Amino acid sequence: MSTNRRDFLRLGTLATIGLSFIGRKAFAAANRIERKLIQQTMGPFTLAALPYAYDALEPHIDRTTMEIHHTKHHQAYVNNLNKAIESLKEQPKTLDDIFRNISTYSAGVRNNAGGHWNHTFFWNIMRASYAVAANAPSGKLAEAINASFGSFEKFKEQFVQAGKDRFGSGWVWLVINAEKKLVICSTPNQDNPLMSDAPVKGTPVLALDVWEHAYYLKYQNKRPDYLAAWWNVVNWERAGELFEGKYR
Ligand code: MN
Repeated sequence: MSTNRRDFLRLGTLATIGLSFIGRKAFAAANRIERKLIQQTMGPFTLAALPYAYDALEPHIDRTTMEIHHTKHHQAYVNNLNKAIESLKEQPKTLDDIFRNISTYSAGVRNNAGGHWNHTFFWNIMRASYAVAANAPSGKLAEAINASFGSFEKFKEQFVQAGKDRFGSGWVWLVINAEKKLVICSTPNQDNPLMSDAPVKGTPVLALDVWEHAYYLKYQNKRPDYLAAWWNVVNWERAGELFEGKYR
């Protein structure tokens, strides 16, 4: 076995431990409206394994895109976050500490802490697509979406529109705001609605990465096609749990 392979496996084991820790803590926290988000003790941050294989989201998101996105892009955010916090005089205890006081941090901390959190959330809000007629929310989340947007179809239209309207790189979110209402919003770069200076703040229920690196290999300039295909891989079960304040 090569050194690289051994390192990869060792990293994988650590990542799995990390995932269960971050997963429990993050999703517990991410569901609390009081915004006690992300409890991971600071650094060094590690890249958790995906909760599915790189080809699990095919044909909607291709294997190569997923592998590069995870092992190169997300890994870079993790590496750069560790570098960016190294020199801080006072170490923030959690990513949430950073987000709650985001304006006091450098662009490097902001972009990479956001990049790490956003991607961790994104991987876990997707799952393998199933051969079902419709992948749709159910239960209380479905009711809330209908109440807030009129119907699931209208909700999707607004969400997709927010993705089309995001100029350049960024994210689209479905969040629970301070009034406990479901709201669609979009953030530039690696910002997110947890950041204290976000124009729309809230607790994420869904997140969609609309950076070109998330879709360009398969969809090239056709962002709308990626936005349309993404609904096939949304993990509505998890979104529903997040909405109801549950986690696993
Ligand atoms: Mn990305």
